[in-house]
Amino acid sequence: MGVRDGETSMRVTFLGTGSAMPTGDRFQSGLLVQDEGRTLLVDCGSGVLHRLQQSGVGYESVSTVLLTHHHLDHVADLLPLLKARWLAGEETLTVVGPSGTKALVDDLLDVHDYLDGRVDLSVREVHPGEFSVAGFDVRAREVRHSKYGLAYRFDDRLTVSGDTEAFAGLASFAEGSGLLVHDCSFPDDVEVDNHPTPSSLGRALSGREIGRVYLTHLYPHTEGRHDEMLESVGTHYDGDVRFAEDLTTVRID
Ligand SMILES: [Zn+2]
Ligand SMILES: [Zn+2]
Repeated sequence: MGVRDGETSMRVTFLGTGSAMPTGDRFQSGLLVQDEGRTLLVDCGSGVLHRLQQSGVGYESVSTVLLTHHHLDHVADLLPLLKARWLAGEETLTVVGPSGTKALVDDLLDVHDYLDGRVDLSVREVHPGEFSVAGFDVRAREVRHSKYGLAYRFDDRLTVSGDTEAFAGLASFAEGSGLLVHDCSFPDDVEVDNHPTPSSLGRALSGREIGRVYLTHLYPHTEGRHDEMLESVGTHYDGDVRFAEDLTTVRID
């Protein structure tokens, strides 16, 4: 599997490469996965609805959202997406995510009860293992974060870490992927649990075969420090590593 900029099947568009603290340039988590007419949104943080519109894909085309976990920066635009689809005359929305997704959506609709019943809403909880969503075959693995969450792998093309510490189990889960999109929230000098630093990520990835790694979930602390962070990952891991940017599309063979 390779990653290139030419004409291939799977397209991954970074809608939001930021985190819970705004940088001014990076919206909260959202990743659009498209393949042969299938479209899936992974996470739906604040700003993702606007990015969908800016991407040219549009919220009308996204009827399924797959959540990695339930922190606000991954779910904040869920009801805004539902409302926009309702107003645009779209009739469905499917939300898929880890245990607790049903309760989350029910609670959101309790607060904003005028949105209840506006679209045909289907909510499904998924667990570590294999399942199918929006026509994609997906494998899920539990991650290490302050809230229960899942990483997802789409055949041998794409792995999405969600929010997680870097650890060998996840690196092994991602091994052989054309593309790995991995949380790299902070530079090395920030004391952090539940998220990686570049050196912890580099150490976890050391020796793994992955086509290309994109760093995402970037806090403002990372601004202006990309070179140093890449160098730090590169001390341990010699593969192709880049910073994700909002509204960039990558094609995977
Ligand atoms: Zn989180
Ligand atoms: Zn997050």
